Amino acid sequence: MDSTDVIVVGGGVIGLAIAWEATRTGRRVVVVDPAPGSGASHAAAGMLAAVSEYHYQEEGLLGLMLESARAWPEFADGVGAGCGYLGTPTLCLAFDPADRQALADLRAVQEAHGLDVRPLSLREARTREPLIAPSLAGAFEIPADHQVDPRRLTASLVDALTAEHGPGAVLRSRAESLVADGPGTGIAGVRLEDGRVLRAPETVVANGLGARGLGGLPVELPLRPVHGDILRLRVPERLRPLLDSTVRGLVRGRPVYIVPREDGTAVIGATQREDGAEGVLAGGVYELLRDAQALVPAVAELELLEATARARPGTPDNAPLLGRVRAHDGGGHVPGLIVATGFFRHGVLLAPAAARVVLGLLDGHADPRWEAFLPDRFAPAGRAAAAAHGGT
Ligand SMILES: Cc1cc2nc3c(=O)[nH]c(=O)nc-3n(C[C@H](O)[C@H](O)[C@H](O)COP(=O)(O)OP(=O)(O)OC[C@H]3O[C@@H](n4cnc5c(N)ncnc54)[C@H](O)[C@@H]3O)c2cc1C
Repeated sequence: MDSTDVIVVGGGVIGLAIAWEATRTGRRVVVVDPAPGSGASHAAAGMLAAVSEYHYQEEGLLGLMLESARAWPEFADGVGAGCGYLGTPTLCLAFDPADRQALADLRAVQEAHGLDVRPLSLREARTREPLIAPSLAGAFEIPADHQVDPRRLTASLVDALTAEHGPGAVLRSRAESLVADGPGTGIAGVRLEDGRVLRAPETVVANGLGARGLGGLPVELPLRPVHGDILRLRVPERLRPLLDSTVRGLVRGRPVYIVPREDGTAVIGATQREDGAEGVLAGGVYELLRDAQALVPAVAELELLEATARARPGTPDNAPLLGRVRAHDGGGHVPGLIVATGFFRHGVLLAPAAARVVLGLLDGHADPRWEAFLPDRFAPAGRAAAAAHGGT
């Protein structure tokens, strides 16, 4: 039986960010994942879009998004330039007058929350980005919404963890279930697919949608898959740079974005569907290309490299399941267990904040600002069915 200080189940952006921050405090950490970086994080565009992704009725989430956006430069510095963090701004475009009105309405709400959204004349917008369509209806600049390359980020984090603790820091295995030593003793580690048990005083469940299938959880996590189709394209030399900013916008009411990468590629995304279809849908690819071309006509001349679909880990209120699980009697929490999943559309943005929240919990400090995200908030009477694990 092997042991360590912290086990992190799941090596997507969330699990790896948590593992990395915990490692930096001197803890021994093991990430368990059969294929790190292959889940939703593999598809993500990497927009760090606290402002432009602000949605009505998600006020509770805004504080965490802004906190994480502020944490990103330092987090990226710690991981290193290889993660592909760029402090470039976002340009938000309206295709027709109805789209302009919708974006203006959203801007009013964003401004009411103190968010920085600046109207631009179309001339100004085209001076900044000469390849946007000449006939658009409106433009706004969002200076604080930056980007990172999630694939480079997960690879950099795996490298950083293995450089620190050796290849065993990222264990290519599936966690079958959490293990407990007995009633009331809390979580003592995980059982792996080969039957081995890995023990630690703290286990972090950060395996995205996979948390639904993890045995031994003392609470039901209401996760649902929200699939997204997304495209990667190469910009021919003669069109580089296609864009300096991330461009996103509304085209006849449909959202679309184009994220330019440093390596001369661009990412166009993303659909959002709950039909359960795992593969890339042709209709989604068609709509993305059509709408992206309406904003940036030169998109038609890019080489299509890849169409990918992945499921985002959605929750009933679109906010993460983040924190310790309360014991059934309300007198404490289940020892040895922290949950960090359900990051839905914002996992890349929220990774540094999730890591900070988890680090606080490992240190014994729960930040009351994030109580709204407790992972058992949807359980009956707001309490986990944790009779078997009730702890301190
Ligand atoms: C098309 C698309 C575009 C997106 N764009 C953005 C964006 O621009 N900005 C943004 O912030 N977010 C974006 N997102 C959302 C973001 O991708 C997710 O919120 C984020 O990746 C969730 O990270 P995660 O680590 O929780 O889950 P995942 O990345 O899904 O990782 C979960 C990991 O757990 C592993 N795993 C599963 N079960 C087990 C098990 N039993 N044992 C061990 N390991 C297991 C899997 O192999 C996987 O590596 C996008 C998502 C999609 C689909």
